[in-house]
Amino acid sequence: MNDIHDTCVIGAGPAGLAVARALAERDLPYTHLERHSAVGGIWDIDNPGSPMYSSAHFISSRTQSGFGGFPMPDHFPDYPSHRQVLGYLRSFADAYRLTDRIEFGVEVRDVEKNADGTWTVTRGDGRSTTHARVVVCTGSQWHPNIPELPGNFTGEIRHTKDYRDLGELRNKRVLVVGAGNSGCDIACDAARAADHAVISMRRGYWFIPKHLFGRPVDTLSDGGPHLPKWLEQKVFGALLRIVEGNPVRLGLPKPDHRLFETHPVINSMLLHHLRHGDITAKPGIARTDGTTVHFADGTSDDFDLILFATGYRHRVPVAQRYFGDEQHPDLYLSVFSREHEGLCGVGFIETNSGAYRLFDLQAQLIASYVQDGPERFTRLIREDRPDLSAGLKFVASPRHTGYVDSGAYVKHVKKIATAMGWPTEGKPAARFEEVVL
Ligand SMILES: Cc1cc2nc3c(=O)[nH]c(=O)nc-3n(C[C@H](O)[C@H](O)[C@H](O)COP(=O)(O)OP(=O)(O)OC[C@H]3O[C@@H](n4cnc5c(N)ncnc54)[C@H](O)[C@@H]3O)c2cc1C
Repeated sequence: MNDIHDTCVIGAGPAGLAVARALAERDLPYTHLERHSAVGGIWDIDNPGSPMYSSAHFISSRTQSGFGGFPMPDHFPDYPSHRQVLGYLRSFADAYRLTDRIEFGVEVRDVEKNADGTWTVTRGDGRSTTHARVVVCTGSQWHPNIPELPGNFTGEIRHTKDYRDLGELRNKRVLVVGAGNSGCDIACDAARAADHAVISMRRGYWFIPKHLFGRPVDTLSDGGPHLPKWLEQKVFGALLRIVEGNPVRLGLPKPDHRLFETHPVINSMLLHHLRHGDITAKPGIARTDGTTVHFADGTSDDFDLILFATGYRHRVPVAQRYFGDEQHPDLYLSVFSREHEGLCGVGFIETNSGAYRLFDLQAQLIASYVQDGPERFTRLIREDRPDLSAGLKFVASPRHTGYVDSGAYVKHVKKIATAMGWPTEGKPAARFEEVVL
């Protein structure tokens, strides 16, 4: 369907599916375009360009990670594998009858704003359609961020985006650069498979285990008292020191920030492998020379492969000129373009919890905005610039500019929605049905 009053949703990963469900449940017309042949976004390892690797599991736990009204099934483990997440997403799309409404194999080439405020969406084959609104859900993990490597390294250099399986590391001396969640996972693969494995990180991090007291770590505050952030930092920081000891003993740099002031690194295995000598930690790279890498502490080592686990640029090729800054599009509540009415994005929020509930909340806001008309909301889009840090002083790095605390974000969105008379939830529940992948 294409009609000038409808909303065009681009991308059928988790974000696009959440938006489609919110529009569908209110019978709001929409067009849904996806360049791949199936739903699932990056969780479909066969979606060309996906950064998924075979050892990947969720880092947010099962009960904290599903969409509202559609919990992940009980038989899933605490941290589902990428294949299980894909099965869940496909089951979600089928349960809400979203799959049949998606035009697959349709790559959007360009989005253009028209003089009358409508939007023209042009496909790869040149065909264009006009829509009242566009919601860009094209994902933010497709365009690798590759820093400059000083010197003349003669070994192989890759970004983890193109890494699939630990077989690629066998018989190699491997240096993983970066200690985010993917970096740590892949460093653990290197610890198991490579001839020699090193992880380099410029700053120290707090490594949070996936389980504490036998429970997924992100469920610990469920039902307990909600502590102010500063107290949570103290209590949880002390607990981590008791459980894990001093990470500096393992050659890791001391964190230069307090707990929760960088994106959480949730990994139980890196410390395990460091303790067993399967991998070594080094500081940042000072320079390279042939196959030798010199580190900032004056030590050096030889490698066949450098794997950059250095994150992504949040590029939005279909509409970059409207989104502005590649790393931090200026979107109200990480959703609504402040400058271009009718342009939204879901999937660009940087925060410290599972993403899908937030995508849901954002999708509800969009559906209410579409249903209600933009008038009353426009002033907020232009003027409301809430502090959503919950008092956390996020470190000064590209990733953490615009970073929000998920609790503060949810609280603010609910306050705004209530003031507007908009619902924040209320989706009909559906049941998980196993999908054959
Ligand atoms: C290793 C890893 C672990 C993670 N773990 C968690 C976790 O534990 N919990 C969590 O909540 N999040 C996690 N994430 C975050 C992850 O980003 C989200 O889970 C989610 O996949 C983002 O969804 P999305 O829909 O925004 O983007 P994507 O999944 O990237 O989907 C975007 C879709 O848009 C399509 N598309 C792109 N461009 C076009 C175009 N021009 N035309 C048409 N279609 C287009 C793509 O084909 C794709 O299907 C993890 C990410 C990684 C990499």
